[in-house]
Amino acid sequence: MFARRVLALVAVATVLLASGTMVAHADHAPSPTSVVSWREHDRHRAGTAWTDIVTVTPALGRTAELQERVDGRWVTRSTLTVGDGYSAPVGVRLTHHWTARPVTWWRLHLPRTATAAEATTPAKKVVATWAPSDDPASPQVLVNKERPLTPHDWAPPDLVRPDVATLGSHDLLRPEAAAALERLDAAAHAATGERLVLASGFRPHEYQEALHARYVREHGLSAADTFSARAGHSEHQTGFAADVTRAGVPFTDFGTTSLGRWVAEHAWEHGFVVRYPEGSEAVTGYHAEPWHLRYVGADLAAYLHHGTIATLEEAFGTGPATSYPPARS
Ligand SMILES: [Zn+2]
Repeated sequence: MFARRVLALVAVATVLLASGTMVAHADHAPSPTSVVSWREHDRHRAGTAWTDIVTVTPALGRTAELQERVDGRWVTRSTLTVGDGYSAPVGVRLTHHWTARPVTWWRLHLPRTATAAEATTPAKKVVATWAPSDDPASPQVLVNKERPLTPHDWAPPDLVRPDVATLGSHDLLRPEAAAALERLDAAAHAATGERLVLASGFRPHEYQEALHARYVREHGLSAADTFSARAGHSEHQTGFAADVTRAGVPFTDFGTTSLGRWVAEHAWEHGFVVRYPEGSEAVTGYHAEPWHLRYVGADLAAYLHHGTIATLEEAFGTGPATSYPPARS
């Protein structure tokens, strides 16, 4: 009897509490939240920071969650405090997650506060874009048959010898590329038990000129142009290109080795791309060269890998570069 009365009282209290809460809500309904200037589609240069200015009303020092959609779920990437005041501009920095995903989706979520209703912006589609560099010292320089190096006889001032096995000549690279090749070699060794050999790194303008001229004598100009760059158009002149192989294997056979297959899959993890892949002859203007790695930096290499983009020409959107501009008479 007593127990039943206690239960009844609890039930009444619960109803009172619930209705009390409801009454409190009705008296102080949270004001609707609005977010102004949240663009729903953006294109931005990948790898750079950018700011989205939004105005949150009311702001009142509340917290906003910047969320990215990953595998169908919204993940909070950062939180920001919207400054005190009726409204406030919010700087949103979307930098580091999107090199892995060329197209990303973001939204701003504002949890409910005592006085303001919760709100979520529409999802923003952000497309990352890359632009090629004309600076021969930049890892993002695009060198191909249509884009010569400027200056034509460029030679990097800071070449170093990477701490990997070499064939003893043309064994220099730019410092960033040399360090990356050392990491790639260490990872390859850990995974396969085999070591990389650097067959050809930096090659100066004069050497490339002589090399191309020799191939032209041996094979004719049009054939030579499918496997050898003319001077001023060779990535080897930047110090960012490395022809690699396995000890005892001519580099032209590297692609058929297990080490070659491992490198094709993992080079991007260390900032390299296989520059002239199989099936891209109509874009690059070169036969496949599984041995020719080009250092482009971790972000751009990840962008190509995750976007399944085969060539730098496609990553930069510059179009195919299969032939040299006609010689000026
Ligand atoms: Zn090469």
